[in-house]
Amino acid sequence: MEDKMLDELINKVSDFIIGSKAIVVFTGAGVSTESGIPDFRSPGGLWDKYNPDDFLYQKFLASPESREKYWQMNSELYCTLVNAGPNQAHYAMVELEKMGKLDCVITQNIDNLHQEAGLLDDKVIELHGNNMWVNCLNCEKRYSREEIQKRLEEGVNVPYCDECGGILKPATISFGQPMPFEETREAERRSRSADLFIVIGSSLVVQPAALMPLYAKEGGARLVIINMDSTSYDRNADVVLHGKAGEIMGRIVDLVKYKRKLQEG
Ligand code: NAD
Repeated sequence: MEDKMLDELINKVSDFIIGSKAIVVFTGAGVSTESGIPDFRSPGGLWDKYNPDDFLYQKFLASPESREKYWQMNSELYCTLVNAGPNQAHYAMVELEKMGKLDCVITQNIDNLHQEAGLLDDKVIELHGNNMWVNCLNCEKRYSREEIQKRLEEGVNVPYCDECGGILKPATISFGQPMPFEETREAERRSRSADLFIVIGSSLVVQPAALMPLYAKEGGARLVIINMDSTSYDRNADVVLHGKAGEIMGRIVDLVKYKRKLQEG
């Protein structure tokens, strides 16, 4: 994207933010690539290395062999996640919250980086769960992922619940697993009542998460999309910014702060 064009669009989005009271930010894997966590679909992403079909929820339930394969992949992912920290884009959302403008963040991510940046749990709706926790599928006992990682590193291939012997699974939503009902409903409600809806780093191909921008438009919100690549929702957006999420969000929020300072005199 040409520099002059980018400057103009950043200026436009900063004005949208200044005129908004209930901003909903919708994030995908692309918001965390600058933190060192690869997305799934770009070259070099997780699906270049693993076959998503091997990690269907039904397969996970069906055999200890599938669970072992799953835990191997998840251990690799977990090591990447614990070594990553928030980037400028995550911190920009915290700035919006400090200004009293952020209604919530709806995220497809499982990396906990919005909370690590400083957002409280009740400001983050996680549509696909959180990989820092593990649940027993039988008695629902919750474990920290760290505790389970220790067991894996001590040589356990497939961990089970120490309370009831049930199957343990990271608190994330796998392919073939039902979406979390409350989170999905709340995300739709908040999307519909937003006055500004900003998509950051999502290919918008995973459903039903990708319906949220449409709910927001139906509810009368302005729609901004910030992504490296085009998405099929670009034509519905008021502004589309192609580039790096951290850099662009950092610039937008700096400009908003500057303009607000000028307004305050
Ligand atoms: P995706 O992989 O389908 O798409 C990511 C998008 O982000 C791509 O269109 C890419 O062009 C863009 N992108 C990459 N780096 C960017 C950057 N620096 N700035 C702006 N845009 C950038 O991701 P998705 O739409 O979120 O869906 C994939 C699923 O994978 C999600 O459901 C999510 O649960 C899961 N996932 C999560 C993480 C994480 O928690 N960090 C990482 C990988 C995958």
